[in-house]
Amino acid sequence: MTPHGSAASDPDEPVRIGVFGGTFDPPHHGHLAIALEVGHRLRLDRVLWVVANDPWQKSGRVPVTPASVRLALVAEAVDGFAGHEVCDLEVRRGGPSYTADTLEELTRLHPGAALFLVVGSDAAEGLDTWKRADDVRALATTVVVDRGGRQGGRPPLGWPHLVVDVPALEISSSDIRSRFGDGRPVEALVQPRVVAAVRARGLYGCGR
Ligand code: ATP
Ligand code: MG
Repeated sequence: MTPHGSAASDPDEPVRIGVFGGTFDPPHHGHLAIALEVGHRLRLDRVLWVVANDPWQKSGRVPVTPASVRLALVAEAVDGFAGHEVCDLEVRRGGPSYTADTLEELTRLHPGAALFLVVGSDAAEGLDTWKRADDVRALATTVVVDRGGRQGGRPPLGWPHLVVDVPALEISSSDIRSRFGDGRPVEALVQPRVVAAVRARGLYGCGR
């Protein structure tokens, strides 16, 4: 089964791969809602959850959990969702994570595949500030996610894109980290296997 629920793709059609990047510190139901919705709406064969090694927009501002641990958490989050996979390309590459490098690598690894880069509407507005923005635009179809029917930011003028509406879930990794830290409930926001993995490792100050 593919993320969009059909048994197999037409062998003459290019493989359709979603590229969903994030820090995933930790992954939560908001991420899952996006990945499942985009996979379904765009009939993607695979959705890669690309774990940022060093999220350059965040590093230095907030402490980021080691990438190997975040990879393990995403592996738990996608387990059981057909076609959804954790992708360690950026972690193996090391250093700051640039989407242009990742798309280039995926193009080499999957020749002929159609790549779909999934970005939140907040990130969409700043796409032209990303490193090698022209490559980002050329190597994948940009997919902007709007939340709950509210139109958010859009890519710069002339940047082709699709828009997918996802259910609005006011969940963020930042809030979840602070909930783990002070013992507030997380069970409605994070998958049980991720909760267990966080607790087993004592992440985010839980169990202190
Ligand atoms: P933090 O609070 O640490 O910034 P986050 O919850 O925003 O974490 P990220 O890993 O930064 O998680 O997000 C990866 C992608 O998922 C981004 O494109 C972000 O816009 C999107 N995203 C995160 N949370 C939600 C949500 N609740 N609904 C829709 N999109 C989300
Ligand atoms: Mg964020």
